[in-house]
Amino acid sequence: MTSFEKANGALRTPILLANIGQLLTLQSASSNFGPRRGSGLKELGIIKDGAVLSVGGKIVSVGATKDALRDPWLKKNRKKVLEIDCAGKVVLPGFVDSHTHPVFISPRLVDFEKRIDGASYEEIAAAGGGIRSSLHGVREAGKRILANKIVNVLQHMAAHGTTTVEAKSGYGLTAESELKSLQAIRAAASRWPGTLVATLLGAHVVPKEFQGRSGEYVEVVCTEMIPQAAKGKLAQFVDVFCDQGAFTAAETERIFAAAAQHGFGVRAHVGQLTETSLLPFLRFNPASFDHMDHVNDADIAQLAGHDTVATLVPGANYFLGLKEYPPARKLIDAGVPVALATDYNPGTSPTLSMPMAMSLACTHMKMSPAETIAASTINGAWALRLADRKGSLEPGKDADLVAFAVEDYREIPYWFGVNRCTMTVMSGTVLPAAGSL
Ligand SMILES: [Zn+2]
Repeated sequence: MTSFEKANGALRTPILLANIGQLLTLQSASSNFGPRRGSGLKELGIIKDGAVLSVGGKIVSVGATKDALRDPWLKKNRKKVLEIDCAGKVVLPGFVDSHTHPVFISPRLVDFEKRIDGASYEEIAAAGGGIRSSLHGVREAGKRILANKIVNVLQHMAAHGTTTVEAKSGYGLTAESELKSLQAIRAAASRWPGTLVATLLGAHVVPKEFQGRSGEYVEVVCTEMIPQAAKGKLAQFVDVFCDQGAFTAAETERIFAAAAQHGFGVRAHVGQLTETSLLPFLRFNPASFDHMDHVNDADIAQLAGHDTVATLVPGANYFLGLKEYPPARKLIDAGVPVALATDYNPGTSPTLSMPMAMSLACTHMKMSPAETIAASTINGAWALRLADRKGSLEPGKDADLVAFAVEDYREIPYWFGVNRCTMTVMSGTVLPAAGSL
């Protein structure tokens, strides 16, 4: 039994977090509903000397500590409440990591060294490395082993302040191993008090046995993986890696159509290596377009009028040693809703730290610290269609909160490479962070 599973027993105890130096509620002053755009991405709704009360895993009130302590319900029930003195720390909504690939067995150390020696992404893939080299481990592994791997990474994510995680399959690439991967995600979700959102990424890359016959593989995705995942209620989204060396725009549309037919939301990896026109995909109302390193001005103008979130993953650019990063400034200034995620995966972004992604967004994409926080909380929630429950601290939302041992929220992306998260609350379950792991 993990410490997380033990902690599950404590769920539902009313909790009062008090004496919070800066409480970042992420509540917006504007009445505009929808993901945060433009200057709205800077609104953190900060309360000084704040307090949050949660009961039954839901937030009941958010305000100043002195007002919380005067609350008649609290006065009457004080003995039943777990009171936590935050001693001036910063408290904010738990991070929503809306793009991860946690279902794999081994790190890709050969790729790492080859890349250091100067090989490109495409050269590594052509030499048998890349995504295809992770397939063997996942195809051979039992569901239990995969689930254990996922739970392990979720524990570390929570220790770094993440309370909601989108988890993709995509390293099996047979109907059987993709469904096994989704079942492993579901098993892991039952052992973790945070929230896990599963995505079928059968269209990650064309596996070797279908080399030169991508159309046939797309049919396996559409007529086997998608219907079976729907039947087992194993995923909320279907994702496609639409790029050079992966799937074409036409194949992506075919997969999106099958996904929509079976009730899935859709999302896509786009523009990581080459530009793809995004317009044809908008009729499927994608929850998000991810990566977006290469995107044209006409598409940016279109996206500014949609709720599809641009999810940027600078950890991949960093780890690949790229000079260029996604054009966050251009997207934000044009009114496109932007989220940040880790893209946790063994090949191109082996980081599970949202503060690290935020730090990279500040230094390499010129996002302000405030923008990185909104992009990692409320807009991550929008990218997973969970904004009614996640991403801000408001009465009625899930009690997902994290405390950082800093005095000012700007320190969260500032102190890169160390973990300042000292407490994680997931649906009312309180977990001490890094120190106990
Ligand atoms: Zn990815």
